[in-house]
Formats: sequence, C-alpha cells, structure tokens
Amino acid sequence: MIEVIKGDITKVHADAIVNAANSSLLGGGGVDGAIHRAGGPAILEDCRKIRARQGECKTGDAVITTAGNLPAKFVIHTVGPVWNGGTKNEAEKLANCYKHSLELAVENKCDTVAFPNISTGIYGYPKDQAAEIAVKTVTEFLNEHKKPGKVIFVCFDEDSYSIIKSLIHH
Ligand code: ADP
Repeated sequence: MIEVIKGDITKVHADAIVNAANSSLLGGGGVDGAIHRAGGPAILEDCRKIRARQGECKTGDAVITTAGNLPAKFVIHTVGPVWNGGTKNEAEKLANCYKHSLELAVENKCDTVAFPNISTGIYGYPKDQAAEIAVKTVTEFLNEHKKPGKVIFVCFDEDSYSIIKSLIHH
C-alpha cells in the first residue's frame, strides 16, 4: 500500500528511510543534512566505507547504510537527477532512484519504506512532474513485486503533499 504524510522524514518509524543524497555520499543540505544531523556520525562512517569500495554513487543508483540514531533501521541513499529542463533524461533517472531504492529495501527485508520528494529541493525538479514519476514508479513496483508492504511518501511542503495525495487517490 501507499501512504502520504506531511512531515519530517527523520522522525518516521520505518524499516528504511530514503535519503536524497548527492553523488559524493558525504552529506549536503536539505533532507540529506537533516538525516545526518539527526542520525549521527555512524551514517557518514558507513557512507565513507561505501565510497572507499565503489567510489561515488551515480545518479539513479542507491546504497544502504545504518540509520544510526534514527528510529528507522536503515537509510537508503539515492542520488536524484539535477533538473535541466527535461533534456538530460531526468525522468528516467528519477524513476531509477525509486526503483533501485525499493530493490535495495526488498533485498534487506524492509517492509516499510519512506521516501522524501527526491530532486524537488536544491536539484530543482518540478514538483508535479516528480510526484507523477514517484507515484507511477512505486505503484508499478508494488504491483510487480508485491513488496514492500508499505511505502510512505513523506512530504515536507504542502504542495508536494497535495499533489501526491491527489495522485494516489485516483
Ligand atoms: P534534492 O537535492 O534531491 O533536491 P533536497 O533535500 O534539497 O534534495 O530536497 C528534496 C525534498 O526533501 C524537498 O521536497 C525538500 O523540501 C524535502 N525535505 C527537506 N528536509 C526534509 C525532511 N527533514 N524530511 C522530509 N523531507 C525533507
């Protein structure tokens, strides 16, 4: 099932929360900054280990770490596309973020997964277009795989909240 709430993803009790990270995996602003601040240094420690192993995380890919002090079990870090007017395959890259995050969640037996509105902050993706991709990609994944049991869209702003709400109720 899909749920939408308004709020702060660092407060959400889920098996995994997803972070809109950047390719360095070393932290940034927005939701990334909030997750590292609230979760503590254990998250960054894991991110550094992953970087040492595989280098940067490519746009559309995802990696998984501890959730440190957060109420979640894991943080899944995915790198959304920077909006470039729609000329750089942004839609496909954004869909890949949701798909790859859900794949990692299932591999790690996470039954409840919370997503922020990836790319719609500093990366400038139009909220309505990002919401459509988010809902469509998650819906297709759940239909195909029958898991995870619950996906929660955690919206920080009223706009994204009402857009996603209208999309999942149709
Ligand atoms: P990006 O670089 O992918 O655009 P941002 O962190 O700038 O990432 O923004 C992604 C979304 O996360 C935006 O909609 C922003 O409002 C939202 N956001 C920021 N802080 C939080 C938070 N604590 N919980 C949930 N969403 C958040």
